[in-house]
Amino acid sequence: VMASMAHLQKEKLRLQEELLELQEKLAAQENNELSLSLQLQGQVETLKAKLLEQAQEISRLRSELGGTDAEKHRDLLAAENERLRQEMKALEGELRELQRQQQAPCHDCPHLQENAELQEQLSQLQQEAEETRAKLVELDLEVQQKTNRLAEVELRLKDSLAERAEEEERLSRRLRDSQETIASLKSQPQQIKYIIKTVEVESAKVKQALCETQSRNQYLQEQVGMQKQVLKEMEQQLQSSQKTEAQLRAQIMMYEAELERAHGQMLEEMQAMEDEKNHAIEEAFSRAQVEMKAVHENLAGVRTNLLTLQPALRTLTHDYNSLKRQVRDFPLLLQETLRSARAEISQAIEEVHSTNRELLRKYRRELQLRKKCHNELVRLKGNIRVFGRVRPITKEDGEGPEAANAVTFDADDDAVLHLLHKGKQVSFELDKVFPPQASQEEVFQEVQALVTSCIDGYNVCIFAYGQTGAGKTYTMEGTAANPGINQRALQLLFSEVRGKAADWDYTITVSAAEIYNEALRDLLGKEPQEKLEIKLCPDGSGQLYVPGLTEFRVQSVEDINKVFEFGHIKRVTECTNLNEHSSRSHALLIVTVRGLDRSTGLRTTGKLNLVDLAGSERVGRSGAEGSRLREAQHINKSLSALGDVIYALRSRQGHVPFRNSKLTYLLQDSLSGDSKTLMMVQVSPAEKNTSETLCSLKFAERVRSVELGPVSRKAELGSWPSQEHLEGDSPGSAAPPGRGHASPSPGQLSSRSASIRRKLHTSG
Ligand code: ADP
Ligand code: MG
Repeated sequence: VMASMAHLQKEKLRLQEELLELQEKLAAQENNELSLSLQLQGQVETLKAKLLEQAQEISRLRSELGGTDAEKHRDLLAAENERLRQEMKALEGELRELQRQQQAPCHDCPHLQENAELQEQLSQLQQEAEETRAKLVELDLEVQQKTNRLAEVELRLKDSLAERAEEEERLSRRLRDSQETIASLKSQPQQIKYIIKTVEVESAKVKQALCETQSRNQYLQEQVGMQKQVLKEMEQQLQSSQKTEAQLRAQIMMYEAELERAHGQMLEEMQAMEDEKNHAIEEAFSRAQVEMKAVHENLAGVRTNLLTLQPALRTLTHDYNSLKRQVRDFPLLLQETLRSARAEISQAIEEVHSTNRELLRKYRRELQLRKKCHNELVRLKGNIRVFGRVRPITKEDGEGPEAANAVTFDADDDAVLHLLHKGKQVSFELDKVFPPQASQEEVFQEVQALVTSCIDGYNVCIFAYGQTGAGKTYTMEGTAANPGINQRALQLLFSEVRGKAADWDYTITVSAAEIYNEALRDLLGKEPQEKLEIKLCPDGSGQLYVPGLTEFRVQSVEDINKVFEFGHIKRVTECTNLNEHSSRSHALLIVTVRGLDRSTGLRTTGKLNLVDLAGSERVGRSGAEGSRLREAQHINKSLSALGDVIYALRSRQGHVPFRNSKLTYLLQDSLSGDSKTLMMVQVSPAEKNTSETLCSLKFAERVRSVELGPVSRKAELGSWPSQEHLEGDSPGSAAPPGRGHASPSPGQLSSRSASIRRKLHTSG
């Protein structure tokens, strides 16, 4: 409470001080105001004086302006002007008088001279008047300028007067403001009084606070009482805790004694351990001494050993030195050895070279021999060979007994085939038979020797013969995924030609043609409908050629594909029913290979004719009429003609009827002479096709069996049977005359070729 009282007292003192301060400030402010008002009054005075001064200045300026030189000058000039005008008027009057006198004739007038003088004077005066007038005008101009300038000055004066009025206004406003400030400052002591009053009110409040504080004091005293009681309790607690402390002290003492005892014990143990350690050290030392002695003894032994080793070391050093010398000499030795080895090796290489050369020569000779043998073999086999190919049963054959398989093969002889026809088995022997599972690749392997011989300048014909649907087109063209002979042959030709590129330049060209109803058409030409003619070469070589037949040069498989596609498109666009049409026409792909041996200048030309023949089936003779009959007749004729030609060739007749059909005529070069021909007879194995199959196989066997011995053969066979005759032959009775000849004369080639062929067949 005392403290709060003291605080309040202090507060009161502080407030009083503040009051005094404020009063002082007030006095100071009043002084300030006084001085400020005095100052302002002084300012007002000075401003007023300035105003007066300026007014005086203005009036002075005005008076000054009134009496400028210009104005005076102007007045003067005006007066002069007036005077001169009056003078001029007087002179004019005089002049008029004189003129009037002159009009009166007075020759001897004494005034004549006077008159002349006067006239002179007059003219002088007139001149003067003129000058004066000009001066006057000038002066007038000057006066005008001066008045203008005066007006300007007046305007400026007016502006400055307005400015002054504004300044006056501003000053008076400021005076007014200052007076107002003085008045407000005068009202401030009132405020201070108000503050004092509020302080007094606050002191009442302070008194109230004092009362409150007293009551609080009372409350605090009560609290002190309570606290004293608590203190007492605590003292009691303290006593009890002191007691506990004494107890704890006793315990600590006890523990300390125990600790001391333990410490003593530990010291004892340590002593014992120290003793033990010393003992062990002593022991180890004595042991080490013993060991040391032993080592010393060992050392002595080693020393004696060392002495004995020294001579050995000496010999070793000696050895080492000698080795060193050897090593130094080694490179020389090595070089020598190498030189001799090199010489030996080069000699050996030389030997190998010469052997190689010899071998190569022998190999080449062998190759030539082999080729010769091959050609001989082909010749012996007959330049005309006949293969059979049986296609698999397809979906198109349908189901049931009609689609049953009627063809079987001989497991030991791949040239034999059996056909079950009307319950009887008929066997045929060809040069080779391909069963249904034979791949395009396998078929091509058998014909590739023929294809390559065309690079050596031979003409080759490969025919696919058989009824429609027997697989002729499949064998020749094949499918995109599984190409046939046509594409494979061209590919083989490309690779062979590439292999010989070192010595030979080859060009390969292809033409594609079609023979339909005995008309030859170009499948690659611009005018496919145009019928082409076969003509004799005008060079007298006896060669045939087809004027206008398009030839494309091909260099890659892509080129061939393009050519095929082109030909195919031509065929398709020209015909409404391609299948029908293609089975009624012969399709020819003629590949010509021209070679030039760069070293010898030798030229070769070989032709490969790949022919997909028209379907060999017989058209029902009763039903066919019109175009169908004509087609059938044409086909029949051309196939018969082909048979005739082959027959004539194989039986080496003097006359070969090439001209009997367009096909044989066109292929004349490729069928005669050294040419090689392959007839691929296609057959279907289905039961329903057996009679056609039989016909085809008979045709095949007849072609093949036309062996040599032309006169006797001719006598035996008469002429080649036409297509119709084939059909008439009863199965079984077609036993080929060439087969199983009992006793051929030793000089006859037929028996030789047959035996060779048989050997080949059995050897696989
Ligand atoms: P052709 O040209 O003789 O009228 P195709 O070559 O058109 O006969 O063949 C008739 C059908 O038989 C075609 O669908 C063909 O794919 C198929 N074909 C022919 N020979 C074989 C074969 N060896 N393997 C598989 N399918 C064949
Ligand atoms: Mg076909």
